[in-house]
Amino acid sequence: FLEIVGINKSFGSVQVLKTCSMTVAAKETVVVIGPSGSGKSTLLRSINLLEPVDSGDIFFAGENITRERKKAHLLRQQIGMVFQNFELFAHLSAVENVMLAPMKILGVSSADAHDIAVDLLRKVQIPEKADAFPDELSGGQQQRVAIARALAMRPKLMLYDEPTSALDPEMIREVLDVMAELSAEGMTSIVVTHEMGFARRAADRIVFMEQGEIIESASSDQFFGGTVNDRARRFLDQIL
Ligand code: ATP
Ligand code: MG
Repeated sequence: FLEIVGINKSFGSVQVLKTCSMTVAAKETVVVIGPSGSGKSTLLRSINLLEPVDSGDIFFAGENITRERKKAHLLRQQIGMVFQNFELFAHLSAVENVMLAPMKILGVSSADAHDIAVDLLRKVQIPEKADAFPDELSGGQQQRVAIARALAMRPKLMLYDEPTSALDPEMIREVLDVMAELSAEGMTSIVVTHEMGFARRAADRIVFMEQGEIIESASSDQFFGGTVNDRARRFLDQIL
């Protein structure tokens, strides 16, 4: 479904991705962990072509997308991305945030987009916040609007970059619950997070990155069963 084959990426003289390869099967949820600066965000950003790679190939739904810069906007319609800082449109209400892309990009009518958005806000458990503006929402609610907004484009793949790391502890769970439910329903997902409870609950596979390298890619069972690479183990000991 998604296959990354030996991608390399440098910023100036710093090699941020070193021959990284990984495969994500349809309906799989992969959690990516690793120290700060190890290249996790860069990996996600290269998958949806926000960051061009220097070499290697990325195949998505059977197509080599690596050098499809011109079609990047089409690709990004199929790949939803959720960031640490929500990045909602501040001047739009929750429901308008979710309606925007279907209307502007897919040409969906305002009435239909509204129906879709209301359904999605129900799915992320905040139907009552449809008319609230981002500054009237908690961080956890804003992040759930951001997830609904990504889902409105009916993506085939969801990328989450530390979606709960800007949240107060009591709000982390509500966001992770929504993500876990989507994963359980078969949404193919790559999640950068250090929430190992979520990983245990929702991940099929755990990928550990360090200094631009994918050091380990283990099934959830192997990983939590204790057969973990030493470097990954040391990292886990630090964060747990
Ligand atoms: P964190 O856990 O802190 O989010 P990360 O694993 O997501 O870290 P990246 O953001 O992918 O790491 O960054 C990997 C390396 O690439 C870092 O050394 C970073 O300084 C560098 N880097 C990232 N983006 C750029 C850029 N646009 N220009 C130059 N260097 C960059
Ligand atoms: Mg990052």
